[in-house]
Amino acid sequence: MKVTLLGTGTSQGVPVVGCQCAVCRSDDPRDHRLRTAAFVETGGLNLLLDAGPDLRLQLLRKGVTRVDAVLVTHEHKDHLAGLDDIRPIYFMMKEPIQIYAMPRVLKVIRKDYDYAFRQNPYPGVPSFTLHPVHDEPFSVGGIEITPIHVRHLTLPILGYRIQDMAYITDGSFIAGTEMQKLKGLKLLVINALRIKEHYSHFNLQQALAIIEQLQPEQAVITHISHEMGLYEDVCQGLPPNVRLGHDGLSIEII
Ligand SMILES: [Zn+2]
Ligand SMILES: [Zn+2]
Repeated sequence: MKVTLLGTGTSQGVPVVGCQCAVCRSDDPRDHRLRTAAFVETGGLNLLLDAGPDLRLQLLRKGVTRVDAVLVTHEHKDHLAGLDDIRPIYFMMKEPIQIYAMPRVLKVIRKDYDYAFRQNPYPGVPSFTLHPVHDEPFSVGGIEITPIHVRHLTLPILGYRIQDMAYITDGSFIAGTEMQKLKGLKLLVINALRIKEHYSHFNLQQALAIIEQLQPEQAVITHISHEMGLYEDVCQGLPPNVRLGHDGLSIEII
C-alpha cells in the first residue's frame, strides 16, 4: 500500500492569503500546504480521501488518471469544494465516480452538485454514484474499509481505516469504541491544527496523546495551520515514530 498526502493544510491553506508570518513567508516547500486530502493505492485500487478546493492541482501533481472511489470525511468546503474537478478522471474512465460518505454528506453533494443528478444532464457534467456509509465496514473492489466515527466539535464526521492505515482528519474527539477500531495500525494519519488548543480540532499535544495510546508503527500529522510553526522546528520536538506531514509525502506500507 502506498499513501500519498495530497494536501496537509487547514481550511485556508498555507500560506494564508495576506499573512506575513514566518511560516507563510517560509521558502521551505514543506511549509506550503494545500487543503487536506490523501491518495491511497492498494490492491490495484486508487482511493481518494476528500475532494477539497485544491483538488485539480493535487490530481495534476500526483499524475492521477484513475479514481476507484472517493471517500469523503465530511461536507465542510475545505474537503468537498473541488469535487467537480474530478471530471477529467470521469471522462477518461467513462464510468461514474463512486462516492462514499455519511447520508447527511451525500445530501449536501446532491444539493451542491445538483447539475450532475438531473434526469437529462447538461453535456459534460460529471456522473456520480453515491454510496451511504453507516457503521459497518464496506468493501471497494475487495478492499475492506472501516468507517471510524469521530467528532469535529459537535459534528459527527468520518475517518477511514483501510487495511493497516487509518486516516482521521478534522477530529476533536474519538470515542473509546472507535479507538478500538484503530488498534494495530502500521500508519495513522491524524489531524493537529496547531500547538495551542482549538475548539474543533486536536492540537498537537492531543494528537500525540492519541498516538501514544494507539501505538501505530508510525504516525503523520495533517490539517496543519500556519500557527503550528515552521516544519523544521516542529519536527525536532516529535517522538521518533511521529512526523509532521507535508504535501507530496508518500509512505509505503508493507
Ligand atoms: Zn478541514
Ligand atoms: Zn501566516
